Amino acid sequence: MAQIMIKNVRKDFGSFNAVKSSTFTIEDGEFFMLLGPSGCGKTTTLRMMAGLELPTSGEIYIEGEEVGMKPASQRDIAFVFQMFALYPHMNVGKNISYPLRSQGMPKAQIKKKVGEVAEILGITDILNRPVGGLSGGDRQRVALGRAIVRDPKAFFMDEPLGALDAEFREHMSAELRALHDRMGATTVYVTHDQLEAMQMGDKIVVMNHGVVEQFGRPQEIYDWPSTMFVASFLGSPSMNFLTFEGMIGNNRRTVEMNGVDFAIPESLEGARGKLAFGVRPEHVQFSDSSPYKGEVLATEYLGTTQIVTLATANGEIKSRVNAVQSIQVGDHVGLQFDPRTITIFNVDTGKALLSLANQEVLKHG
Ligand code: ATP
Repeated sequence: MAQIMIKNVRKDFGSFNAVKSSTFTIEDGEFFMLLGPSGCGKTTTLRMMAGLELPTSGEIYIEGEEVGMKPASQRDIAFVFQMFALYPHMNVGKNISYPLRSQGMPKAQIKKKVGEVAEILGITDILNRPVGGLSGGDRQRVALGRAIVRDPKAFFMDEPLGALDAEFREHMSAELRALHDRMGATTVYVTHDQLEAMQMGDKIVVMNHGVVEQFGRPQEIYDWPSTMFVASFLGSPSMNFLTFEGMIGNNRRTVEMNGVDFAIPESLEGARGKLAFGVRPEHVQFSDSSPYKGEVLATEYLGTTQIVTLATANGEIKSRVNAVQSIQVGDHVGLQFDPRTITIFNVDTGKALLSLANQEVLKHG
């Protein structure tokens, strides 16, 4: 098990800068997600940690030792790829024991280790089966077994469930997380799926265009996004942005949009220019007494909730409300927003003007 530190790591491919100066720490035993859209630099970051790609600059530490220039074979990590290639001519047991046999480990010890790993993964009964006829889930388990059997310092997984259908993917992600909880080994997991990242991860790094936009616990990132990109990448539907020309000064605890004052979680000083009022759909509430109005453009029934799309003076907004609430297209409704959940952004920089540190103070008194 290991702590992994990335310090100012950058990667260029020729003149193309794939990863900008990235800094974050993965604590010992964490299930850590690298999340972002296609091409944002997640895989390149993971490959640099693994030693499959050399950083152009910056430092990578595993267990306190600088490994940036060390080859993969000397880093003692195990990689689980999306296209988990098993050796087709070997049975399950032989596939799992392969890394130990190539290390020259004595037979009796190999048998014991493979038995333990098969037990952990629940595949003891298929150890003698050829891998050819296995189900997708069992193939994934065998690939994991081959990674686990070496007792590496950390597991690196690059979209390991990407090829599976939705239902099975959910099942395997729960199984992977449970396996991690049993073993407690540091795991770094690449995904573009925000739901998967929030469900499975202890911490998440959100990347975009090679930049680390934010890193923290899933709830921190969801509740207090530090950029508009993070706010819109996490959550479905994503955070609403109502845009307005702002002039906030004198430590005000409100912002004015279209003549209506809205409370915000902390005072903002000197915020001016084009601002965005960020509110998640579940925090947009209907209230007859609110002077801030929206016109219902569409409703989308989702079983227990419905998504209502409304036009306001500051742009379109989505609200998630109970499905039993009767709402018709064309209705004019008053809108109110829970002040504790508002984030204000500078539209030009895309950055949040309210900080997580201050929110923590507010939440805990
Ligand atoms: P995906 O999920 O699509 O793999 P990603 O976030 O993992 O996306 P990377 O694979 O890290 O993205 O790629 C980041 C950028 O670097 C992409 O624009 C990619 O085309 C580019 N890139 C990656 N490897 C190389 C390479 N060997 N040579 C040139 N460009 C590369």
